[in-house]
Amino acid sequence: MSSGSGGAPDVLIVGGGPVGLFAAALLDGAGVKVTVLEQHAGPSEHSKGATVHPRTLEVLSALRACDGRGLGDVLAAQGRTITGAHFALLPSLLDYSALPTRYPYVLMVPQTRTEGLLLEHLRSRGVPVRYGHRVERVEQDHDSVRVRVRVRGEGAVHEARYLIGADGTHSTVRRQAGIAFPGTAPSLITFVADVRLGAPPPRPVHHWDVRSGTLSVLPLPGGLHRLFGAQPCDTGLSPAKVRAVQDAELTGRDLRRSMRRIAGTDFALREIVWRSRVTDTTHTAERLRSGRVFLAGDAAHTQFPAGGQGLNVGLQDAANLAWKLAAECNGIAPPNILAEQASYHEERHPVAQALAHNTLAQSALMYTFSPAGAALRGLMSDLITQEESAARRLAGWVSGLDVRYPAPPDAHPLVGSRLQDPHLLDRLRPGRFLLALRDGTSELWSSVSLPDTLLLPEHASGAFGASAALVRPDGHVAEAWDHLPDDRTIGEALLRWTYAMPARC
Ligand SMILES: Cc1cc2nc3c(=O)[nH]c(=O)nc-3n(C[C@H](O)[C@H](O)[C@H](O)COP(=O)(O)OP(=O)(O)OC[C@H]3O[C@@H](n4cnc5c(N)ncnc54)[C@H](O)[C@@H]3O)c2cc1C
Repeated sequence: MSSGSGGAPDVLIVGGGPVGLFAAALLDGAGVKVTVLEQHAGPSEHSKGATVHPRTLEVLSALRACDGRGLGDVLAAQGRTITGAHFALLPSLLDYSALPTRYPYVLMVPQTRTEGLLLEHLRSRGVPVRYGHRVERVEQDHDSVRVRVRVRGEGAVHEARYLIGADGTHSTVRRQAGIAFPGTAPSLITFVADVRLGAPPPRPVHHWDVRSGTLSVLPLPGGLHRLFGAQPCDTGLSPAKVRAVQDAELTGRDLRRSMRRIAGTDFALREIVWRSRVTDTTHTAERLRSGRVFLAGDAAHTQFPAGGQGLNVGLQDAANLAWKLAAECNGIAPPNILAEQASYHEERHPVAQALAHNTLAQSALMYTFSPAGAALRGLMSDLITQEESAARRLAGWVSGLDVRYPAPPDAHPLVGSRLQDPHLLDRLRPGRFLLALRDGTSELWSSVSLPDTLLLPEHASGAFGASAALVRPDGHVAEAWDHLPDDRTIGEALLRWTYAMPARC
C-alpha cells in the first residue's frame, strides 16, 4: 500500500483543481495530514474560472504567504480589477465599490494563477500533491476509506480516515459513493477565449442584441482579454447538438466571425491564448456526504458559469468543510458541526441549490433572444437601477458576501452570517475560532476556562454589530451577544462548536 510521505494521511483529496488544493491547504493549516491525488501529469493549463469574487479573496486570505500577506492579497496583486459586476449581462451593473469588504471588486485572473498560488503554498509546506494518480475505486468501512489508484499503468491503494471528492463534474468519487447528481441537460453552448486584441475596448464590454447575440470582453492581466459569447443559433439546441458543437474545434476563423456578427468588430483579434466552450448543463449532488466521503466544488454542483461563480462557490465549500473535518481529525468536533444543524451538508447544500437557480435564471435572461427576452431584460435592468435593495441583493449573491447559514429561531440576528469587520476577518486562520469582544478582553480571557482556541484582539473595531461574537474559522458568526457574556455563557457556546483546549494565538 502506498500513502503520503511519513505514514497514511488523515484526509485524502481526489482532484488537484482549485477546490482540492484549497481544501488541502486549509486542512494542513489546521494541523491535519493530507494528500492530494490528481490524475493529470502536472498542473492544469486551462484558464477557465477567471472571475474571482470578494468573498473568495477573503477566505483565501486565511492562508498566509511567506511574506505574511494573505493569499487573497497575493492573488489580487496578480489580476485586473473591475468594480461593476454584471448580472446576466444586463446593462445596469452591480456596483461592488461600496461592498463591506477589503476586496470591493471583481478580480479577473486566470484560474491557472489561482491554482499556481495554492500549489506553491502547498509545496512550501511540504504537502504531497501526487500527479499522475487516477482514482478508479472508492471503498469505505466504519474506520477508514480506501481508494484504488492507477499510477503509470500500475495499481496502488491509498487509505485515510476521510476522503474529499474534489474531482470535478464527472466525479468518480461521487459515482463510487453512490451519490445521485440530478439536473438538467444542456440546451445552449457558448464560446470562451483568452485573447490578445490589437484594438481592445477601453473598458469592459457586455454586448447584448436580440438579433445577433452576446459578447463580453473583459481585461485579464498580461495584456490579455477574456471573451465570452454566443449567437442566437447557439441556443435552443438538443443535448446531442450541444455535444456535437462541443466536440468541434473552436477555430480562430469561427471566433472572428462570431465576434463580427455579434458586435460588429473583432477588436483586431491577434492571438488566441486559450479557448473553450461551455454549456448550461446544471446538476447538484443529492448529498454532499456519504459516510467518510465528502464532495466539494464541481463534483458537488455543476452549472453554467454565469457571472463566474463555480470556482468561487467551490472554494467556499472548501472553507466550510475544512475546519469541520480538521476538528474531527483532531478529536475536537462536537456533534453540532458534523451531523447536526451546522454540518457541511446542511450548510452548503442550500448554497449549491441557490447557485443552480441563480445561474439558470441568468442563462434565461442572457440567452432568450426574442422580444419577450428583451422585455424581461429591460424590466430587470430597470429594477436594478431603480431599486437599491434589488441591486444590493444580487450583488450579495454573486459576490458571495451574503451567504448566511441556518441559525436557530432564537439566535442573535448575526448568527450564521459572515463577519463583516475586515480587521477581524484578517485575523482568521485555518481551524481557529476567534472570540471578538468589544471591550475589556483581558479579564474575560483570564477567566475563560472552557475549551476553545481563542484569539482575542486587543481592540475589536466594533463593526460587527454586537458586543461579543464567537466567529468560526470560515468567518461566519457562531454565536453573538448584545452585552458582554459571562464565562458560563461563553463556555456553553464554545462547547456547541469546539472541544479544543484554550490557547492564545
Ligand atoms: C470555460 C469555463 C469558464 C469558467 N469561468 C468561471 C469563472 O469565471 N468564475 C468561476 O467561478 N468559475 C468559472 N468556471 C467554473 C470553474 O472553472 C470550476 O467551477 C472550477 O474549475 C471547479 O474547480 P474544482 O476543483 O471543483 O474542479 P476542477 O477544476 O474540474 O478540478 C478537478 C480535478 O480533479 C481531477 N480528477 C478528476 N477525476 C479524477 C480522478 N478519478 N482521479 C484523480 N483526479 C481526478 C481533474 O483532473 C481535475 O484536475 C468556468 C468553467 C469553464 C469550463
